[in-house]
Amino acid sequence: GRAPPALAALSRVLRLERSRRTGIVFPLQKLERYLAPGADTTRFRLFQPGLAALQRAEALFRSDRGHPIDYVSSAVRMDHAPPPALPEVCFIGRSNVGKSSLIRALFSLAPEVEVRVSKTPGHTKKMNFFKVGKYFTLVDMPGYGYRAPQDFVEMVEAYLQERRNLKRTFLLVDGVVGLQKTDHIAVDMLEEFGIPYVMVLTKIDRASRGVLLKNVLEIQEFVKENTQGCFPQLFLVSSVEFSGVHLLRCFVAHVTGNLPTVEAS
Ligand code: GDP
Repeated sequence: GRAPPALAALSRVLRLERSRRTGIVFPLQKLERYLAPGADTTRFRLFQPGLAALQRAEALFRSDRGHPIDYVSSAVRMDHAPPPALPEVCFIGRSNVGKSSLIRALFSLAPEVEVRVSKTPGHTKKMNFFKVGKYFTLVDMPGYGYRAPQDFVEMVEAYLQERRNLKRTFLLVDGVVGLQKTDHIAVDMLEEFGIPYVMVLTKIDRASRGVLLKNVLEIQEFVKENTQGCFPQLFLVSSVEFSGVHLLRCFVAHVTGNLPTVEAS
């Protein structure tokens, strides 16, 4: 199989010097030092697992013979979805936001898992289900955009409203451009359905520190003032540099009930 990227495993990240290590594992925390003195940083550290929890999560995302990680099936309608047997998380976002890259990064320690992309316009958009051993399922939802056909909107809405085992929705937002009109449509939908979600800022390696900080603060403020269901801490990721990927694995493990003890560090 393919060799996983260098920083896909925590053991490699731990060998970096401290400041780089923090930047990879806790990218949001790394921004804290550039805030104005006295700024409220509680929203930067709500989910702050220690090493043991990060390692436990990594083990979940590492496949082996007794712990298979598989693409299960695709569905265009809810009655094609696999039975809701395990706790589930889903990933949604605009086309091109970096969703397939992120899911590939999350599953990089299971190189046999194939994350398919269907980007050709007019190509049927599907929900792709991945099963992580006997622990949880992860769903790659079709990317949305201005020209999302009505049946696609209905499929996503039906999934979000009906899926009983859905524990958390991960809404991906481009970290370089921030919240866009279509992202607001997704937020409105999640708020209307009253289901818990969390925002993930992607491609942070592409944003300058200033742009990233501005987007983080703006989105934090938006979440605080305008949402009920959104987790107050943002997650920052780069699928290229692997920043935030380990923490996101840990959060997925946590929300699916697979992290019995998240000790504060
Ligand atoms: P999707 O349509 O949401 O699945 O987006 P993709 O994962 O296919 O990514 C869209 C484009 O952004 C591709 O050209 C990726 O190489 C690029 N991309 C995705 N994630 C990152 C990232 O973390 N950093 C950088 N620099 N580019 C990224």
